[in-house]
Parts: sequence; structure tokens; C-alpha cells
Amino acid sequence: MNHPHVETESILRRALEQSGQRYTEQRAAVFRFLRSTEAHPTADEVFLSVRADVPGISLATVYKSLETLVGCGLASKLTYGDGSARYDGRTDDHHHLRCLDCGKVLDLVDHVDADEVHRLEASARGFRVTGYRLELTGYCANCDRAGGAPPA
Ligand code: ZN
Ligand code: MN
Repeated sequence: MNHPHVETESILRRALEQSGQRYTEQRAAVFRFLRSTEAHPTADEVFLSVRADVPGISLATVYKSLETLVGCGLASKLTYGDGSARYDGRTDDHHHLRCLDCGKVLDLVDHVDADEVHRLEASARGFRVTGYRLELTGYCANCDRAGGAPPA
């Protein structure tokens, strides 16, 4: 039987150890929160959530913990042209929908046809492809309802 909480902790311990990093309660709290949400939070949002569990934790510690998790392959960092970043507890291949109004990022449920990607790879002109990211941009249901932003 897998107890989800215990499983999360052992995944974290193992990955930190393999990267020569120490297990800390702060890192564990940040990791638990990332794994529990599909919201792709910013560092600020992670900070606001975990400080309820870990009194005294600082934004700087949250930020460093997030970067450590990314470095250990336990989370992904999504960066944008404006310098903002969001974190994702999922590290498997998947794609995103991003709202141009509120910045919300959602997982795309559909899989992208691998044959189509390989077809693109064939025309990559000597570029060695090691992965790909697909992001659909537009307006989330909330922002669209608000009648705000017209199409770009
Ligand atoms: Zn939105
Ligand atoms: Mn995601």
C-alpha cells in the first residue's frame, strides 16, 4: 500500500540525496505543496501557502527550495518573456494553456501526437532535438467571461 504522503517524502529524500542535497522540512513543505496543486504557482504563491505549515519560513527560502527541487528533477520551472516564473510539480511530458490576461497556467489534457513531432524533427536541419514544449495562449474561462481582453 502506498501512503501518498510517505511516498512523496521518500521520493524527495532519494532525489535530494542523489543530488548531494540535504532533506529539510522547508524543502519538504514546498515539495508537498507543489505536488498537491495543479495551479502552477509563482514563488510568491508557494510562499503564501506553505508559511501556514512552516511558520517563520521566508520567501528567500521558498525560492531557494523551489530552485533545488527543479535542480533535482522534482519540479519544472516555466519561464516567460517578462521574467516571471511559475513552478510545476509535474515533470512528465505535458503541455500548457496560458491565460494572457491573468497569467494562469493550466495543464493541457490532450497528448500531442508523437508522429507529428517526429515529422517536425525530421526537418530540424541538423539541430539535435531533445524535447519540446507546447503552450497554447489565450483567455481562461474566467477572464473570457469578464469580457476583458479582445483577441490579440
Ligand atoms: Zn485568465
Ligand atoms: Mn503542468
